[in-house]
Amino acid sequence: MLEYNDHIAIAVSGGKDSLTLLYLLVRLEKRFPRSKITAISVDEGIDGYRDEALELARRACQRLEIEHVVVSYRELFGITTDETAAMRLGQTPCAYCGVFRRKAINKAAVMVGATKIATAHNLDDQVQTVLLNMLHGDPLRVVRWGPVLRDPHRRFLPRIKPLFDISEKEIVLYAYLTGIEFQGVMCPHGHDALRNDIRGFVNQMEEKHPGTKFTLLRAAERLRDLLADAVSLTALSECERCGDPTPHRLCEACVMLTAIAA
Ligand code: SF4
Ligand code: ZN
Repeated sequence: MLEYNDHIAIAVSGGKDSLTLLYLLVRLEKRFPRSKITAISVDEGIDGYRDEALELARRACQRLEIEHVVVSYRELFGITTDETAAMRLGQTPCAYCGVFRRKAINKAAVMVGATKIATAHNLDDQVQTVLLNMLHGDPLRVVRWGPVLRDPHRRFLPRIKPLFDISEKEIVLYAYLTGIEFQGVMCPHGHDALRNDIRGFVNQMEEKHPGTKFTLLRAAERLRDLLADAVSLTALSECERCGDPTPHRLCEACVMLTAIAA
């Protein structure tokens, strides 16, 4: 995942996963004098929720002596998650928020000169995402999924997920044992009903049949490797509006911004 001289942009939300990742990578990075870490936080504009998380991220970075960059949806896209949620646009607030976050983190990482982006997705997130894609009828998405994502055309920074096969429970345990202060409350918009149902189902299965999450993860990896040769990735061109790489005329974020403006 990492080279000895990487400049890693870590996406830090202020939750248990991202702060654990920050602490772990800072420990690791100390052994590599030519590497560098910058923490990136995104202010989505969620009243009563994001401010506390940003403050926790700021304090952790100060304690670890890490540069901390905060970018906001308001300044990048002219609209906050609270506002898109209030517009009831037909998709869940998370659908917009997730697309904007990927773009915001990418922009900030390029801005600071990072060579890789590290995100704190864990085993539970990964398994839920694979099943979610299946239930959305989009199983081929698994081809573009994994702990390391590299753009063959080198237009996106490589994205790594160091906690890819670490369970949420272990991360919480690590955070408690090492005294990491993290945000415990849930986002007020985070009610993706299908993901919540999948989370409940997978947790029940894990309880009854320990090892289920790893089995699902490994099954998805096998499927991905088998499909990788059969499915050719669509060639990317440039988004007509923002210039980002996309297989379509407009990138996903610009499609959403156009719908919002309409
Ligand atoms: Fe955004 Fe959804 Fe996460 Fe809330 S739960 S921060 S709306 S992606
Ligand atoms: Zn675009």
